[in-house]
Amino acid sequence: MSRRELANLIGIVLPPAGLVVAIVLLWNRMVGPVELAILAAGYLLAGVGITVGYHRLFTHRSFRTYPAVRYAFAVLGQFAVEGNVVSWVTNHRKHHQFSDRDGDPHSPHAGYGEGFVEGLRGLWHAHTGWLFDKDATGDSRRYAKDLLDDRGLRIIAKLFVPIVLLSLVIPAVVGWALLGGTYGFVAGLVWGGAIRILLLHHVTWSINSICHFWGRRRFVSRDESRNVWWLSWLSFGESWHNNHHAFPSSAFHGLRATELDPGGWVIRALERCGLAWHVVRISPAQQRAKLAAAND
Ligand SMILES: [Zn+2]
Ligand SMILES: [Zn+2]
Repeated sequence: MSRRELANLIGIVLPPAGLVVAIVLLWNRMVGPVELAILAAGYLLAGVGITVGYHRLFTHRSFRTYPAVRYAFAVLGQFAVEGNVVSWVTNHRKHHQFSDRDGDPHSPHAGYGEGFVEGLRGLWHAHTGWLFDKDATGDSRRYAKDLLDDRGLRIIAKLFVPIVLLSLVIPAVVGWALLGGTYGFVAGLVWGGAIRILLLHHVTWSINSICHFWGRRRFVSRDESRNVWWLSWLSFGESWHNNHHAFPSSAFHGLRATELDPGGWVIRALERCGLAWHVVRISPAQQRAKLAAAND
């Protein structure tokens, strides 16, 4: 097993293991509002780090901002324990280049047949299995040279493990301060660490699996991407995935007023505060040109 596979295994197995420990330790104790607030705050920070930072800013350059804001987003993204900013962007750019064809790191379709069992195998590969397939990942020097050229991002990527540990220590200390004693420390670690990571992992992976399998296709795209409305609020708008494959550089994944897109709201707020500029918007005319009337 390579170092990368071992790291992935640890990252995947530890959060559910933490959950089991939590259930045993915290049995008979009601979950209070403080524990849930710690979970929500951690989920929000790491989730925005992924969707606004890793995905819309670094991978697709859908807006510009100051270096300090870029680095803050890179650190928040690393809190999610989905790999460092350079490797995430590398794999995601490769996903867009090959989407659902040979070379796509996490397609539920490429290389899999049409049968039920084949379908399940494809979904497993897209959701989690690809993390253990060394041929799936891309070469950062080819796909993320712009990030490697940024010294600050290189340093942040190297500090992946300490940054992940920081994302565990902060909620533990907050839990200790607000709830007190060993219970508070463990509760903070479990809700703001293990459960937060577990939940965000599966929501992110669902974009790769579910959103390339079930849902509506409004736009004609050469892949199997879909819009999945019920995942939109948990995924910060990422599940408008057919919209996203149709217009990858758009800062907004929700293109209609009814399409919840919390990641887009963050970018709009940054723009109002003068912290984001050159925000990529897709005009109604551009959208109409790509509409697949037969599918919607
Ligand atoms: Zn996709
Ligand atoms: Zn993308």
